[in-house]
Amino acid sequence: MTIDAQPVASHFIDGKPIEDEAGENLQVIYPATGEEVASLHYATPAIVEKAIAAAKAAQQDWAAMTGTERGRILRRAADIMRDRNRELSQLETIDTGKPLQETLVADATSAADALEYFGGLAGSLTGEHIPLGNGDFVYTSRHPLGVVVGIGAWNYPTQIACWKGAPALACGNTMVFKPSETTPLCALKVAEILSEAGAPDGVYNVIQGAGEVGASLVSDPRVAKVSLTGSVPTGRKVYAAAAAQMKHVTMELGGKSPMIIFDDANIEDAVSGAILGNFYSSGQVCSNGTRVFVQSSIKQRFLDRLKERLETVIMGDPLDEVTNFGPMVSAQQCEIVMGYIEKGKAEGAQLVTGGARADMPGYFIQPTVFADVKDDMTIAREEIFGPVMAVLDFETEEEAISRANDTEFGLAAGVFTNDLTRAHRVIGQLEAGTGYINTYNLAPVEAPFGGIKASGVGRENSKEAINHYSEARSVYVAMSEVEAPY
Ligand code: NAD
Repeated sequence: MTIDAQPVASHFIDGKPIEDEAGENLQVIYPATGEEVASLHYATPAIVEKAIAAAKAAQQDWAAMTGTERGRILRRAADIMRDRNRELSQLETIDTGKPLQETLVADATSAADALEYFGGLAGSLTGEHIPLGNGDFVYTSRHPLGVVVGIGAWNYPTQIACWKGAPALACGNTMVFKPSETTPLCALKVAEILSEAGAPDGVYNVIQGAGEVGASLVSDPRVAKVSLTGSVPTGRKVYAAAAAQMKHVTMELGGKSPMIIFDDANIEDAVSGAILGNFYSSGQVCSNGTRVFVQSSIKQRFLDRLKERLETVIMGDPLDEVTNFGPMVSAQQCEIVMGYIEKGKAEGAQLVTGGARADMPGYFIQPTVFADVKDDMTIAREEIFGPVMAVLDFETEEEAISRANDTEFGLAAGVFTNDLTRAHRVIGQLEAGTGYINTYNLAPVEAPFGGIKASGVGRENSKEAINHYSEARSVYVAMSEVEAPY
């Protein structure tokens, strides 16, 4: 590999890279080979302190700029990001192992979309005038929350850094972002680019660390809000810690989302949707539709075509643009996923294809499909976060809806059918924050994204996100004498 992944320093605080070698060593491993590609340090308490202090010091001046000025900086950052898409995508591929074919179109590009979209909105964040009939009125205004902490998962490191950073900064907050310890590289680039685009020092800071560093950020009283992308168990801990100080939260958590394929669906589209919803990023996508309910009469046709298409997957060097299926992000994730595959076999699901590690270096697992999966099997209940699809049969619409909803999660849901009224009727009853009809897993910045039930709180993207990174205040204005009873 010829790309130099080693950053100049582990952290980016107050407009510059900064190192503290007293922090524990953090090795960055390229998942396609298992080799170390960079070496960083976890944040020490001194680094955590510096980052929060820098964000706190910068916040009022940043908020005092007009929204248009803040937006211009974000839009400039979006342009820089697009200009450097290839370089950023290569780094993301090294950080995550995802094929370059994917990172070129779905990470820095999506991050740039968020910077552009929220940059465009920043100048229009206004309040309301509310007439009260007697001449009195109320006006409202939108205010930033203050210092926002962003904590990321490892599957979309550039995108997550911007899905949180862009709305936070547009609203006049400053940010301390902690990427996942598994993928620490890309967020540093986001910080550099924002700085180059004109973000004042301290507005967007990045520090490295695992859960402990994350927890120390969450509990700091100077932090007003925490936005986490991670698993449900981590979400419960972070939400509880934030609640202790009555902080705002956005929780983008895990899922076990259903996809329901009716017998009148276009089979080719349904297979494509199931492939996108289970094997893109080697299955490491939160909104994946991993419980694929297929109406019995088309089950065999669906499985045959799915197997046929999965046999054409190209596994290999993720930096080669021909490769369309990469490894798991880490040895640990590979082990977790293999554990689920073994459970699937042991609990009696029928293995249709895959089911083993690929015979090559790195953490590759074959795309795996189980059929005849029952609702109570482990692979139908728990989030696997790997390339493992569970296919379940169903007979009636009512049955499919009730089984699809029988989960603690509620991130996404999809329906494939050519019956227009059934499509809307079914999607309307599925308990999910993000629904799809005849497609799966698209997440344009214009649309709200997030979960219900245990899958999360708050929404990212779209105008909705503004409500989660700012708060409304109201002022009552009396235009007449004040009446008092005595
Ligand atoms: P994780 O929960 O292990 O870690 C997420 C982040 O939280 C990491 O940065 C980690 O260091 C940090 N963390 C861990 N303990 C903490 C604590 N006590 N306090 C503060 N921070 C702490 O998740 P992961 O394995 O990195 O990512 C996979 C999970 O993320 C999956 O469950 C997936 O569904 C979810 N995810 C959700 C979305 C979404 O938008 N809903 C997107 C991507 C991933």
